[in-house]
Amino acid sequence: MQRCPCCNARIRDSALCSRCRADLSAIIETEKAAGFWLFKAIQYRKESHIEKCIDALCFSLRLKKTTLAINLCDFLIQQSSQDVLGLLEKKQIIPAKQQLYTMRRLYPFSEQLQQLNGFADYLLVNSQKSSLSDWAENHLNPILQFLKNKQYPNAD
Ligand SMILES: [Zn+2]
Repeated sequence: MQRCPCCNARIRDSALCSRCRADLSAIIETEKAAGFWLFKAIQYRKESHIEKCIDALCFSLRLKKTTLAINLCDFLIQQSSQDVLGLLEKKQIIPAKQQLYTMRRLYPFSEQLQQLNGFADYLLVNSQKSSLSDWAENHLNPILQFLKNKQYPNAD
């Protein structure tokens, strides 16, 4: 914050506005907390603690939406999308859905994440269909075949 939100005077080092005497201490403390949580988010990212990174970044963004925090959010979404596509390629649909769920906490309305989630759902339904048809082929068809071949005395 560089200017007083009440009177637009330039802020000096004091927590009181030099022009209108507004108490800016709560705003200054909130900005410090946002910076702290953003720093923690970057640290967790470096240590590959993605869930903790997202938690810290969510705190930071709720306190103040700085350009750096928004850029980190975009970066995480891009990176996670690549990971999710990699998982989907290996047909690991449930881990992909779990990762998408984690990411959606950060940015619930991301079009990219929503599209990936829709794609994962589509693959999930198709894999269930194909596993159902595998099951039918392995279990149901032999039974049907057996029933077809079975001679019933009163069939004719
Ligand atoms: Zn002021």
